Amino acid sequence: MFERGPHVSFANCGLPYFVGGEIAEQDSLLVQTPDSLKARFNLDVRINTEVIRIDCPARRIRVRELETGCEYEETYDALILSTGASPLKPHIPGIECPNHFVVRDIPDVEKIMEWSKHCQGCRSVVVGGGYIGLEMAEQLHRHGFHVTVVEALPQVMTPLDPEIAASCLIFRVRSYPARPRCPTVLPPDVPVLAFVL
Ligand SMILES: Cc1cc2nc3c(=O)[nH]c(=O)nc-3n(C[C@H](O)[C@H](O)[C@H](O)COP(=O)(O)OP(=O)(O)OC[C@H]3O[C@@H](n4cnc5c(N)ncnc54)[C@H](O)[C@@H]3O)c2cc1C
Repeated sequence: MFERGPHVSFANCGLPYFVGGEIAEQDSLLVQTPDSLKARFNLDVRINTEVIRIDCPARRIRVRELETGCEYEETYDALILSTGASPLKPHIPGIECPNHFVVRDIPDVEKIMEWSKHCQGCRSVVVGGGYIGLEMAEQLHRHGFHVTVVEALPQVMTPLDPEIAASCLIFRVRSYPARPRCPTVLPPDVPVLAFVL
């Protein structure tokens, strides 16, 4: 198994809670490690190693060790491509900036936590009010940030019916201590819904 990142089998679902401090130890995010997979399943797991070429007729891959730059080849009988997904970065002018972050893996949240050390009580904006956006909003708020969520659709949490999403939102907003700036609930026909936790 080749993994270009530094971890295998980590708990993506815990990443926002690590940012907020509910999960205190980074090791708690690691479900399996190369050593545990070796011991349990006799798997040969090579982390920090990227597959950079596939020679299909020869059933051969070329890999690069990212820490050393060293490249080598391995052969296979069957190749499983399970390369996952990466966060969608829409073509918004200015999207690339050092204080813009995505949340996909442990190095991503390490960057957020490093930045947040120097920015206590800052304002943060979460773009996208789906599961991950709302979890991040909750945890950034817990971390002491003023958080605004911006969602292009008329409601957050689109897998839910609008009435249920709205009641969740009102419940959550009300569950936070009163602040001088009240949450703004816009009419449902407003294309951008923004609220302050
Ligand atoms: C913040 C967050 C919270 C989530 N919460 C939940 C949840 O609560 N419940 C739930 O069911 N799902 C949740 N998910 C989704 C879940 O994590 C994904 O559905 C799941 O990780 C997909 O698994 P995968 O193996 O397909 O891809 P991935 O987990 O993305 O694994 C693919 C791996 O392939 C590696 N890779 C890619 N290209 C190469 C290459 N060329 N060479 C070597 N390695 C390569 C990548 O580095 C990556 O580690 C969450 C995701 C995130 C980001």
